[in-house]
Amino acid sequence: MKRIAIYPGSFDPLTNGHLDVIQRAAKLFDRVIVAVAKNESKHPLFTLAERVELVRNAVAKLPNVEADSFSSLLVEYAAAQKAQAIVRGLRAVSDFEFEFQLALMNRKLDEKIETIFMMPKDTYTFLSSRIIKEIARLGGDVSSFVPANVQIALKKKLKD
Ligand code: ADP
Repeated sequence: MKRIAIYPGSFDPLTNGHLDVIQRAAKLFDRVIVAVAKNESKHPLFTLAERVELVRNAVAKLPNVEADSFSSLLVEYAAAQKAQAIVRGLRAVSDFEFEFQLALMNRKLDEKIETIFMMPKDTYTFLSSRIIKEIARLGGDVSSFVPANVQIALKKKLKD
């Protein structure tokens, strides 16, 4: 049986913190699908297609990782992909309450799918897509926080 995990999120845009979680998950699972959520209600900076493409480029060297998008209920998407687990990243206690609620709700919706939490390297615990966008908007250097392709995309997007 292949072990398949879904790593869902907005990824608006992907950061080195997300990548750290992806690399850790890739060691535990045969296949990791980074699933970009449509999340129109969050008014993302990047379109769904752009966010998926940024993930796809950044994970190109990881043979068992792929990028996809979804707009349905997460547990339904996970079941359709035959995934046994949902991976989420935990940075600090502040993430815990929401993530705990989400994990228990997903278990209520489908008890066969386990949620696995992964902690990033400590240097990434302060990183969030929101903060990256804020720094980039103000002209700050984000090169040590995001992959090179994301840095380029941010520059291009914010100059438009
Ligand atoms: P969402 O909008 O679903 O929270 P995000 O793209 O912000 O999507 O995050 C996706 C997942 O990655 C979440 O579980 C989040 O807690 C986790 N995450 C975000 N940033 C980091 C980081 N720097 N280190 C580890 N996990 C992270």
